[in-house]
Amino acid sequence: MQIYLNNSLTKVKEEFKPIENNQVGLYTCGPTVYGYPHIGNFRAYLTWDILKRFLLSQNFAVNHIMNLTDVGHLVSDADNGEDKLEKAAKREGKNAWEIAEFFIQDFKDSLKELNILEPTHFVRATDTIKEQIEFVKILEAKGFLYKISDGLYFDTSKISDYGKIANIQNIDLQAGARVEINPEKKNITDFAVWKFSPLDAQRDMEWDSPWGKGFPGWHLECSVMSQMYLGDTFDIHTGGIDHLPIHHPNEMAQSFAATSKLQANYWLHNEFLKFAGGKMSKSAGTFVTIENLKEKNISPLSYRYFVLLTHYRKGLNFSWEALEAAQNALVNLVKTIVNFDDGGKADAVSLEKFYSSLADDLNTPQAVAVLQEVLASNLSDQEKLATIYKMDEVLGLDLKNLKKQILSLSAEEKDLLTQREQARNNKDWALSDALRVRLQSLGVEVEDTAGGQKAMRMKI
Ligand code: AMP
Ligand code: ZN
Repeated sequence: MQIYLNNSLTKVKEEFKPIENNQVGLYTCGPTVYGYPHIGNFRAYLTWDILKRFLLSQNFAVNHIMNLTDVGHLVSDADNGEDKLEKAAKREGKNAWEIAEFFIQDFKDSLKELNILEPTHFVRATDTIKEQIEFVKILEAKGFLYKISDGLYFDTSKISDYGKIANIQNIDLQAGARVEINPEKKNITDFAVWKFSPLDAQRDMEWDSPWGKGFPGWHLECSVMSQMYLGDTFDIHTGGIDHLPIHHPNEMAQSFAATSKLQANYWLHNEFLKFAGGKMSKSAGTFVTIENLKEKNISPLSYRYFVLLTHYRKGLNFSWEALEAAQNALVNLVKTIVNFDDGGKADAVSLEKFYSSLADDLNTPQAVAVLQEVLASNLSDQEKLATIYKMDEVLGLDLKNLKKQILSLSAEEKDLLTQREQARNNKDWALSDALRVRLQSLGVEVEDTAGGQKAMRMKI
């Protein structure tokens, strides 16, 4: 099947042609592990999980690399302010290493809850310091760097089409768009590849280097790790659109400077999850976490379903009502398939339609619509189930487990059901009704069928 992806580099939807047949090198810019991510961040990881699962469904072997930024990302995306991890460490009375450990684990736990496949390799920035220093040495030897008081900077004017991906043609125009400008920098768009440790304070994370004690600039790790694991040029590079104006041009420039090659052939960017009209953002204080979802009885998988209903290149507005509606739709889907038996054959025509939707720049809302069409079709229940399970290998809603989940009852609930059966045998309708209400209050729905009581959870 021909796959088309919107490439931010060429600004058109292009046919995807991997460098090597049946193999895809995929790099996803990962989290900065200094705090609980918000669900907007997970929109990015969910999007790239769908991309990866889709490529797997088309029989590509996917080598997926994700960095974990545990050093060097400063409070502003430019090179000013405190290191996010060192700042969090001070606030919590811990050191930056402990902060990183904790939030890496938390991130991995959240990926599981969202049923996001782990990358082939998670790579911590602090595990590649040696390689990052070697990379900087190459940039220095090739004359791309200059030194100012707080670090070693990359001279972006030495790359002829710097910023092409973000349409930054005239760097002078960018003055207003960048945060505080360091007057020592030669060009507004120049960025640090190695920052010096402050003379008056000891950082938790710092390393000796040929240029003095310090730490790598934030963008460096991605150029280095992608080269280490995927080679000079790989297939697909992904991230949120906030990476389009700064982080990705910088990665691309460093990699090009070091290798004279394009870092990646296809650059994909997801739009934002929005909150009250703006970007959901930690620094603006407008954010919701996975924990907040659970507090409101919204399961992470319902959030996944919610994300699937909008194309990844469209802004998605957050609201609790919309999330509840998505959860109800997902519960209804599970309730519909709950009585379908295994053993059917997946319907090839529906699957073809489903994959074609995703092959069109990951049109997930259309793919979900195809799944809904299957439910309404004339296929047998067994065929429907087999087809939907196959689709779920890409959608990742974990329907097999959800089906089990809504049928699993606690000992107390089972006991109430037995009592209710007894009451019905005794024709004690008042007690039977009271027990139904009691079960409802526990979130269990009871239906009386010819074959007896049928009970299932109303929520996931
Ligand atoms: P960070 O940890 O800040 O580097 O962000 C992790 C990922 O989340 C990056 O790919 C960002 O582009 C993405 N991201 C940040 N905010 C949002 C948002 N509101 N909606 C969608 N993606 C986002
Ligand atoms: Zn990156």
